[in-house]
Amino acid sequence: MSSQIIIAIDGPAASGKSTLAKLLAKRLGLLYIDSGAMFRAVTLAWIQKTNGHKSEADAQILDEILSAFNIEFLDNSKTIVLNSNDISTAIRDNQVSQLVSYISTFSGVRSKLLDIQRKLSSDQSVIMDGRDIGTVVFPNADFKFFMIASPLERAKRREKELAKRGERINIEELAAQIEERDRQDSSRAIAPLKKADDAIVIDTDNKTIDEVLGELLMRVSTTQTSN
Ligand code: C5P
Repeated sequence: MSSQIIIAIDGPAASGKSTLAKLLAKRLGLLYIDSGAMFRAVTLAWIQKTNGHKSEADAQILDEILSAFNIEFLDNSKTIVLNSNDISTAIRDNQVSQLVSYISTFSGVRSKLLDIQRKLSSDQSVIMDGRDIGTVVFPNADFKFFMIASPLERAKRREKELAKRGERINIEELAAQIEERDRQDSSRAIAPLKKADDAIVIDTDNKTIDEVLGELLMRVSTTQTSN
């Protein structure tokens, strides 16, 4: 294995990807990049221009947004800065979550972000989480994980996250929103949410974060020592 390591973590919404990716990055001393935050940043900028109203002009509006799109990932993706504005909190709004799957179907958005994702990791080891990291962004990643969890478990996790921000949405509604996002992400024409053939499935249901982290660390160290 080369000294540069790429770890791809994909999976549906609220499956625990980013929590685990962050912890794994810390333990392995690697850079963590949250690719979903990039799509959320484009979505936020689009909402600011359009108030969230979809229209035929969207491809053009998105091209304009992307022509001046300078995103920075600080402190291992804890702080996301777009064109000098800290958007770390705003990109987690439920309005962004509900519209991001629409924005991520645009080919101009995907190709620009693909370029940024590959550039960020051109000369360093990274852990990147998303939907198409193991299939499209890094098909030759050293490790590929695909995280899953039941719809109820995922809705509970999202409920907790939103409650911390003071947003209250009932669990049935959240489960329906998550399901709809996964449906859109898996059915889009370009780079859909999909397990790579060689990805290891990690089921996070009924497991503590530490247990899942242990499983990931075990997979990485076993494969490294057997290479
Ligand atoms: O990971 P997160 O839930 O923040 O991702 C938000 C959205 O961004 C996803 O629902 C999906 O529409 C889009 N996305 C994507 N490809 C990625 C990462 C995220 O299309 N690699």
